[in-house]
Amino acid sequence: MKVSSDILSLVPYKPGKPISETQREYGLTKVIKLASNENPLGPSPMAVEAMTQALQNLHRYPDPAFYELMQLVSKQWRLPTNMLSAGNGSNEIIDVLIRVYCEPGEAILTTEAAFIAYQICAQAARVKTYFTPLKSGFQMDLTAMANFLKTSPDAYKVKLIFLPNPNNPTGTYVKWEEVKNFLDQFGSDPDRLIIFDEAYTEYARAKDYRSPMEDMSKYPSVVVIRTLSKAYGLAGLRVGLLVAPPHVIDLYNRVRNTFNVNEIAQVAAVAALQDADFLRKSQQVNWDGLDYFYEELRKMNLPFVESQANFVMFDTRRDVVKVNEALLKRGVILRPILNYGFKTQMRMSVGLPEENRFAIEKLREVLQEIPAIT
Ligand SMILES: *Cc1c(COP(=O)(O)O)cnc(C)c1O
Repeated sequence: MKVSSDILSLVPYKPGKPISETQREYGLTKVIKLASNENPLGPSPMAVEAMTQALQNLHRYPDPAFYELMQLVSKQWRLPTNMLSAGNGSNEIIDVLIRVYCEPGEAILTTEAAFIAYQICAQAARVKTYFTPLKSGFQMDLTAMANFLKTSPDAYKVKLIFLPNPNNPTGTYVKWEEVKNFLDQFGSDPDRLIIFDEAYTEYARAKDYRSPMEDMSKYPSVVVIRTLSKAYGLAGLRVGLLVAPPHVIDLYNRVRNTFNVNEIAQVAAVAALQDADFLRKSQQVNWDGLDYFYEELRKMNLPFVESQANFVMFDTRRDVVKVNEALLKRGVILRPILNYGFKTQMRMSVGLPEENRFAIEKLREVLQEIPAIT
């Protein structure tokens, strides 16, 4: 049977290596995983309690309108419920928006080294992805994006612009001043949407970072995606939130699966969003961990990019495949950033203090063993 070449050439998303697999392959008992930007504190205890209660209702279908969750988010973020919806992780939201807005042969626009899910979802829908180059220091370049939209002969194909802010795997962000400048030019374009993927927004500490969520009445092309997978500690449940103008929400709700967010996930999300203590603790553990990593990476003379997320990308100054292999042997799972075209960069998520120390100790050993090439 004939299958589209876009489908045949799809490379599936490669998640971090599982702990159990690493234990088996290397015959290890102690293995730590700092590879998937997961919350090291586990899920919020309030969410666990709510889920336990909800198990009694699993014979029922979930609420396809997410009533309780939408009411809560509406109150917390001061937005009307007709601007809100939810997805099976933000990944489903990305996938559905592309299917809603792009015909085969049309395109999305993002930046080099952006989160890879945009390109994978686009390709599955036979949609092309254009990338604008980064500035130095892995910084995303909104001027390059604006120039592409103003001057490229392909610009007319672009229906959706994806801006991960902060970005994964680089940890970099775009300052509000630059975002505002871009939105002043393109934020009211009736033929395109600008999608801010804010998976790490709770972790951003830069003073000049800001989400455009409060400015959506001023910029009708803006869409914001949030997730419960990172600071709220619910990656395993798959809950993403979509904030968009009502006409976008309407189309999204027609195309998504009716029961896309299961009942346990909805109940847990409601509890986690109200667990302010857990969120504060998650932020503090993350910021302390990042500061520790920065200090140690400086001592080891490894260049890194300051991060607004819950991980840091650093230059091993060595073949990252070799570094990765040597770390796995010692029970440390990090994430080599090969699928983004970097040959020496590694991404390390923030864990608990003890995990962070273990990872740094093993990294130091590996650096002794493998000589630097740059
Ligand atoms: C982790 C991550 C997400 C979250 O995806 P979910 O499907 O909600 O788990 C979204 N965007 C970026 C850039 C991420 O790194």
